[in-house]
Amino acid sequence: MESNSYEWIEQKLDAIRRVNWYRSVKTIQSRPGASIILDDHEVINFASNDYLGLAGDKRLAQAAITAIQEFGTGSTGSRLATGHRVLHRRLELAISELKQTEDSIVFSSGYLANLGAISTLVGSRDLILADQYNHASLKDGAVLSKAKTVEYAHCNLEDLIQKLSYYRSSFRRCLIVTDGVFSMDGDICPLPGILDAAEQFNCMVLVDDAHGTGVLGANGTGCVEHLGCINRSLIQVGTLSKSLGSLGGYITGSKSLIDFLRNRTASWIYTTGLSPADTAAALTAIEILHDEPERRTILWQNIETLNQLLDQNFSLQADISDNLKRLPSESSIICLQVKDIETVLSISHSLRLAGVFVGAVRPPTVPTSRLRISVMATHNLGHLQKLVTALFECMTL
Ligand SMILES: *Cc1c(COP(=O)(O)O)cnc(C)c1O
Repeated sequence: MESNSYEWIEQKLDAIRRVNWYRSVKTIQSRPGASIILDDHEVINFASNDYLGLAGDKRLAQAAITAIQEFGTGSTGSRLATGHRVLHRRLELAISELKQTEDSIVFSSGYLANLGAISTLVGSRDLILADQYNHASLKDGAVLSKAKTVEYAHCNLEDLIQKLSYYRSSFRRCLIVTDGVFSMDGDICPLPGILDAAEQFNCMVLVDDAHGTGVLGANGTGCVEHLGCINRSLIQVGTLSKSLGSLGGYITGSKSLIDFLRNRTASWIYTTGLSPADTAAALTAIEILHDEPERRTILWQNIETLNQLLDQNFSLQADISDNLKRLPSESSIICLQVKDIETVLSISHSLRLAGVFVGAVRPPTVPTSRLRISVMATHNLGHLQKLVTALFECMTL
């Protein structure tokens, strides 16, 4: 008899389609940039994490090509078992210099960095206090660690302290985990207060600055610099795949922390090292971050311009705020909350027809559906105006 032990998969897919949670991938047929070809149509791109516009930069491409010619395409195995390339170590030193930390370790993705760090630092006798809106990789790292995980209300120090008072003394170690810039909201964690609470309750702190690096801080090093916390003890995670235009993740902090992770972290030890091409591209991106601060200046001008355009249109059409609610943002991520999944899908579809690509983020990724607009240094005024015009046009239909 035919086995039907796989029938449940089709049934689950049907259920996912019924509640509009079904997703499919759109195809980009051009280089990354402010304007791209998406499923055969040219659109202005507001759905990328390439905030500084480096993913399509010729210098990163050239660095990757040179690295392939010199070191080949693959890293051929775990760095610990089969040796790493001089490029890997150079990248780690460059990250430490950028973040003003003692040492760093690069992973094959930010997701793996989070899984690895959290599951190495805490275990079943320990406690994790986590912001409720943390990125999925932080949540998955907590599950893998087997630590008791308690969520606190989003960016709410009072709730964090209350939960620490209640739970902390029953556990051995405690790790407070938070996004730096929240990836699906665009606001920033209250890091100084979190670090004070950590000191008071003898906790470690891990901050994931995937969206702050290259964007925030006087030198563009991220939310830790922006919030004046560079000299405080903490564990920083980041990715090479957003502002740095490459692929990979990292953890940076004290020498002993990094040495410990190198000895114990399964998602670093039991996986192949970052490819030479990705490593070299990220190194070049860090150099550009340092040498071309004007990219960040232009990015922030664009963020301010878009916020102003949105303000003007919201004040002209006050009734729209019933259907389109701006979430608080202090970064290059600007989110507009809408009432349900159908609405967010229909707005993003209309925008695409108007030549504007904006991410529609919906449950289960986030609690409430929203348009996620991500601003880049390579957008021009025309791009920003077109987005706002198209958005308010399709809202008044
Ligand atoms: C994108 C992201 C990650 C994952 O990074 P990758 O390098 O893409 O795996 C981790 N944390 C946050 C907050 C992110 O936004």
